[in-house]
Amino acid sequence: EEFVRRDSAVDKGDIESLRKFSWQEYMKKRKQKKVLELKDDIEDEPYLFGDEKLTEREIREFRYKREIYELIKKSTQEEDNVGEYRMPDAYDQQGSVDQEKRFAVSVQRYRDMGSAEKMNPFAEQEAWEDHQIENAALKFGAKNKEVSDNYEFVFEDQIDFIKASVLAGDNYEDEMHAKPSQDSAGKSAFHMLQEDRKALPIYTYRDQLLNAVKDHQVLIIVGETGSGKTTQIPQYLHEAGYTKLGKVGCTQPRRVAAMSVAARVAQEMGGKLGHEVGYSIRFEDCTSEKTILKYMTDGMLLRELLGEPDLGSYSVIIVDEAHERTLRTDILFGLVKDIARARPDLKLLISSATMDAEKFSDFFDQAPIFRFPGRRYPVDICFTTAPEADYMDAAITTVLTIHVKEPLGDVLVFLPGQEEIEAVEENLKHKIRGLGTKIRELIICPIYANLPSELQAKIFEPTPEGARKVVLATNIAETSLTIDGIKYVVDPGFSKMKSYNPRTGMESLLVTPISKASATQRTGRAGRTSPGKCYRLYTAFNYYNDLEDNTVPEIQRTNLASVVLSLKSLGIHNLLNFDFMDPPPSEALIKSLELLFALGALNQLGELTKAGRRMAEFPLDPMLSKMIVVSDKYKCSDEIISIAAMLSIGPSIFYRPKDKQVHADNAMKNFHVGNVGDHIAFLKIYNSWKETNYSTQWCYENYIQVRSMKRARDIRDQLEGLLERVEIDVSSNANELDSIRKSIVAGFFPHTAKLQKNGSYRTVKHPQTVHIHPASGLSQVLPRWVVYHQLVLTSKEYMRQVTELKPEWLIEIAPHYYQLKD
Ligand code: ADP
Ligand code: MG
Repeated sequence: EEFVRRDSAVDKGDIESLRKFSWQEYMKKRKQKKVLELKDDIEDEPYLFGDEKLTEREIREFRYKREIYELIKKSTQEEDNVGEYRMPDAYDQQGSVDQEKRFAVSVQRYRDMGSAEKMNPFAEQEAWEDHQIENAALKFGAKNKEVSDNYEFVFEDQIDFIKASVLAGDNYEDEMHAKPSQDSAGKSAFHMLQEDRKALPIYTYRDQLLNAVKDHQVLIIVGETGSGKTTQIPQYLHEAGYTKLGKVGCTQPRRVAAMSVAARVAQEMGGKLGHEVGYSIRFEDCTSEKTILKYMTDGMLLRELLGEPDLGSYSVIIVDEAHERTLRTDILFGLVKDIARARPDLKLLISSATMDAEKFSDFFDQAPIFRFPGRRYPVDICFTTAPEADYMDAAITTVLTIHVKEPLGDVLVFLPGQEEIEAVEENLKHKIRGLGTKIRELIICPIYANLPSELQAKIFEPTPEGARKVVLATNIAETSLTIDGIKYVVDPGFSKMKSYNPRTGMESLLVTPISKASATQRTGRAGRTSPGKCYRLYTAFNYYNDLEDNTVPEIQRTNLASVVLSLKSLGIHNLLNFDFMDPPPSEALIKSLELLFALGALNQLGELTKAGRRMAEFPLDPMLSKMIVVSDKYKCSDEIISIAAMLSIGPSIFYRPKDKQVHADNAMKNFHVGNVGDHIAFLKIYNSWKETNYSTQWCYENYIQVRSMKRARDIRDQLEGLLERVEIDVSSNANELDSIRKSIVAGFFPHTAKLQKNGSYRTVKHPQTVHIHPASGLSQVLPRWVVYHQLVLTSKEYMRQVTELKPEWLIEIAPHYYQLKD
């Protein structure tokens, strides 16, 4: 949904203008204008956010222009559309001080820009690129001219690449590590797997590694992605006897990685998943009494700490993929460091791909670094010669070009998310069908977080002889998962990243340019089994000038409310003194404390309240937890946990096939009768499904994804179990829709918005213009006041999952937060 080109996401007008949009024309237009007019640029908004080819600099530039523009507009506007409610002054003051400061800075920054830059921000880029093109030695595809002639029709808009550099391979002796013969005669599958294990780069260092673990309590382990860290180290530790003393736990930042790696290791150890080897991810525990090697998400280990603060049942903790620096991994660093001091018998391993090792060592009191060489072949790096207007089209064209012109070998394409992957998959299939039998078989394998596990396994299946596999992956394939046999990488240069504005407390998921470090990791994926090639769908100029060196750690760009609540319930009171590797902005910390206070989870002294303690039991965002805890009061916990489960699944509940969109939309209308709002519609969907005894047929008929519903049911079951734990009775109040709505408001009162004269909305807390998402049941109804679940930024700032509210509820439910305007 974050991607604008899909019909479902935006209205027709936007799509039309996006279709017509071309980057080149946009630049021309801007050049003709010579001077950047503030207002014009603001009106380019749908283009700016609609086309992900924008550099971060551009986005930043745009952002502050919009800020200036909005401030100017605001200062000239009459007071009347502020609404009858306003914030208590204490909330407002800080905001406006900041805003003023930022305004002054923005203006200064604009003044400081050289006049040339103001006239033509692209001049520098053009000159540099001209120069590079002149120097270009190798033109993509130039060699196989003959072959390509037959396929000319495929490439209406073929992309020019220049080879700019080579990512050097690792220095090692090939034959020594040559894969054991593929001769499978007389060998069992298990035996073959054992041979595969021995062929991994880490195997050579097995004994050295075990010695290092014996000698040191904390060890940083650094090795190339795919060398066997995640799958092998826990097994080595098991073989060396560490599992006799307790479990070996290994954290992963991603759910899919935890599941897939656990499955692989269970296979290698010849057991069933969930027995000796298990995994634990939110809402899904696949472990048993027997489990000694446990893979889990970093978030799950954090939750386990709530119940077992010394991690007493573990003998070793491996914080894996440490370089990803997810919020929860960062928090774990501080906590496990402390536990290791208190528990000399606990071994702590921090494992990372090749980045930032010294930083980890510094943080863990100069822990030794165990570095072993990888085994990567060199990879040629090619850039496009000009910016691409549409990276998805460019990716498709590049894949087809590779398929037709390049020697066999699998292709890995990095895309920002599920939506983009599905769109590219569909388009590729369509184009291939058009080519008929003229080309070799191309097997398309998607991989993303919500993909069902049966399909996840498919990416690891060996490619049949004479065919080529193309894996369409999110960032998960950057370092968490290694797929053997990849020879070509296509890197559009984007990933989906959370960004958070601590001032307004708003969080959005944006398609954002990756960092140089990420680009290098992606490139490396092409050289695992032979020399490879990486096609970057951006210019070398973009690479050198627009990409940051490293990805900003998540802790510095996210809403901290949920981890702050966890830390508070772990008894960590002074958060400003917490041992952070990179501290979050204090503004964001304060903001999250404020929110938790507003939700009643903390008292004035910043201590956890009874409600807060209950909220912390739920593995959910504090606003959702609050909604559940408060449903006790409104006697509708039964309904509220259904809604919470459905909200946790989100839009993937609906299924809207291209040729049946009208049918799908009609089916949806049944649930929105009476304009009940999206939350209640979710409840109706859940209950109707339950009434049919969880029928699959019913889902088909209503264009609802069975898989998502089953997951919602699992989540709901667990929430029900948690209700019991916090001593809330399951009570039902199905006919009192307003009670249900009040529970929602009690959790989400900071997310309210009021209708404006022009049909847009204005958020109450920090005035900002937003819109109801077109997929919402209320998008045509436009109630005067709404509470929303989430904001997403696509072509506009959209509110997702919206319910109407009565403004007097705000005073009733959150008098500490809202007051009547006098
Ligand atoms: P690292 O953690 O160092 O990046 P891994 O332990 O994840 O390396 O991977 C080692 C090897 O195991 C790789 O060659 C990879 O292809 C293989 N592997 C990992 N998971 C699976 C799986 N689910 N199915 C098949 N092979 C896998
Ligand atoms: Mg790994």
